[in-house]
Amino acid sequence: MPSTSRIQIKSAALENNVNFVRNLIGPDVILSAVIKGNAYGHGTHIIVPALEQYGVNHFCVYSSVEARDAFKYKSDNSTLVIMGYLLPNDYKWAIEKEVEFYVSDISELKQAISTAKEMSKKAIIHLDIETGMNRTGLGILQLKKSIPIIIANNKHLVIRGFTSHFAGAESIANHLRVKKQFSVFKKRVKLLNSRGIFADIKHIASSAATISYPDTRLDLVRVGILLYGYWPTQETFINYIHRRKDKSDPLMRAIRWCSNVISIKKVPAGEFIGYGLSFQAQYDMNTMLIPIGYCNGYSRSLSNSGHVIVKDHMAPIIGSVNMNMIIADITNIDNVQIGDKVVLIGKQGENEISFSSFAEMNNSLNYEILARLPMNIERIESNQD
Ligand SMILES: *Cc1c(COP(=O)(O)O)cnc(C)c1O
Repeated sequence: MPSTSRIQIKSAALENNVNFVRNLIGPDVILSAVIKGNAYGHGTHIIVPALEQYGVNHFCVYSSVEARDAFKYKSDNSTLVIMGYLLPNDYKWAIEKEVEFYVSDISELKQAISTAKEMSKKAIIHLDIETGMNRTGLGILQLKKSIPIIIANNKHLVIRGFTSHFAGAESIANHLRVKKQFSVFKKRVKLLNSRGIFADIKHIASSAATISYPDTRLDLVRVGILLYGYWPTQETFINYIHRRKDKSDPLMRAIRWCSNVISIKKVPAGEFIGYGLSFQAQYDMNTMLIPIGYCNGYSRSLSNSGHVIVKDHMAPIIGSVNMNMIIADITNIDNVQIGDKVVLIGKQGENEISFSSFAEMNNSLNYEILARLPMNIERIESNQD
């Protein structure tokens, strides 16, 4: 889709990050790439084939809507798991295509069974066990109720997984809660096993737990943010390097968001620039116009405070971020011309605009900013600078 800016995905960075996680977890743990939210804003259509190239063949999405999208790009030997919601009409599709899915309450279990019966094909499910997050999952009463249902409908089900999710393994503040969740998980698994219900794999760890709680890796880890080159939190990073000699960041950011200069102006000292009175030129200025704004996901909070990179130099944004454009100061940067590449997020030369600096935000908001990158910005795969 043509757009006034482009999101560049560096597959070399993805390869680096896949190898990092692989080395960490070893050969016996399955690496499942979490690609919900349009692959954390990177573009499912680019991320799935790229990760497959680096040997990833297991993917997790949130909904059946995302699954239908991912299904178009994955190869036949890759597994796809829906960790959340299936539209009622999508059970049939999922079972038909052997897309695996979480069962988080009894009504979902019944829906899976009845659809599988109708189709004479087994539903491949992961039992989502509530362990203390109190969001989704079968609580102890529901779990006990579902046991006879599962046993009675054994021939319509493949129990592929027992699973749960930690409520915040990225912060030491949640340490006790995480520990408790893990012990509840093990107890529930024991209970199921004692009733003759077994799963092929057990999984509970996302990126943060994979790093900070190695014993929770079990048979499979569901890793999202690390693969894209970010730490869940600064704390998780520190936790990791704390145990290493080499203190450098082993991850590489896969994304770069670029646009181009479309106009250049000279503005004499004393003039106001853009809407209203928010910015007055204090000296004779050269400015450039870039055709992106808050309608493209470029935050208005960067008005008069953010930067972009052009010709390897940082250029401060002046005035407010408009719906479709921003203006930046290039008075001290030589030779900027119409058509030059402008980096909104990412690296050029020695300079980098990180998501964290992208609005004085802390790491945990990487998730939000990435996922909010609009779907209609063109994504391209390229390792070029
Ligand atoms: C998003 C998500 C993950 C991945 O989390 P990261 O912190 O990005 O690794 C894993 N499991 C579930 C259930 C999720 O919703």
